[in-house]
Amino acid sequence: MNEKLTQCPLCNNSKGANPFLSCRDELVSHKLFHVEQCRNCGFLYTNPRPNILNISDYYQSDEYISHQDKPASMIDKLYLYIRKVMMRRKSRLIRSLIPQGSRLLDVGCGTGAFLEAMRHEGYHVQGVEPAETPRKYTQSKGIQVVNDIYSVFSDRYSEPDILDEDSDSEEDKGFNVPIGFNKKETPQVEANLFSCITLWHVLEHMHDFKEQLNRCRQLLTNDGYLIVALPMYQSLDAAYYKHHWAAYDLPRHLFHFDNKSFKTAVELSGFTVKKINNLPFDSFYISILSESYRKRLPKPIGYLRAFTVGLLSNLAAATGRQPASSQIFICQKTV
Ligand SMILES: [Zn+2]
Repeated sequence: MNEKLTQCPLCNNSKGANPFLSCRDELVSHKLFHVEQCRNCGFLYTNPRPNILNISDYYQSDEYISHQDKPASMIDKLYLYIRKVMMRRKSRLIRSLIPQGSRLLDVGCGTGAFLEAMRHEGYHVQGVEPAETPRKYTQSKGIQVVNDIYSVFSDRYSEPDILDEDSDSEEDKGFNVPIGFNKKETPQVEANLFSCITLWHVLEHMHDFKEQLNRCRQLLTNDGYLIVALPMYQSLDAAYYKHHWAAYDLPRHLFHFDNKSFKTAVELSGFTVKKINNLPFDSFYISILSESYRKRLPKPIGYLRAFTVGLLSNLAAATGRQPASSQIFICQKTV
């Protein structure tokens, strides 16, 4: 069942919202969904939206590539190539912020490619993934993954590859519950566990994004980093493709942040935005996907237009005129 919000999920105002845009779910249901804009603070949110119990129905697609490692189509192959390039950038960013040996949590880790790469770099990694298939896949790599952020505890994380080179057993990799941890006990809520928590294109999927941010704050060390990647509806590619813009991704994206609303959201949870980086490859991938939603692919002109729009979007972002198609927000606890 869908639920209708009567209050803004960011400012809690009940003055109502104006229609902003309507998009068809091109991936799974092919139903029409709507984005509304709060009359008080301007925040965009999907309304009505699937409730927390039936949202998983909208992820039942072979094309939902972020949960897969094996590409099926040309677009999937492009996605995986971009993911590889982006992995190097993400890894560089983490290394620039926290030293090797630090503890890292990836929320919405999917099939665990990022965590695997960071473990190889020498970090202690742990993941959160609500979907069972990708979670089990990540666990099969010997990475500790739980299904929600409230189940994250200190004594369950994956050792870095460099520390367990001589050991092959799952037990030695920290996959099993360590000796001394009694499964029957209810672990206490713990705090200050991680030097970095990442949410790569995840926050916009979470019904309870405010609570998730609060929990992130609790789990982070005092000088830890919260890293959040988000699509930006004010980018040039979004303006060009309008309701065909693939990163609206309704109804899976419940919220549509811009710099102002994201800043407000993290400040409510006690974070300050320290830096914003662009994700330059997302504009190309999103533009190609948007062309496919307009039924302009696989014609060469469709690819050419997507490339041009992606390039112009990056140029607009580089000159500061418009945000990039996706941005990374680097945040720390407000002192
Ligand atoms: Zn509002």
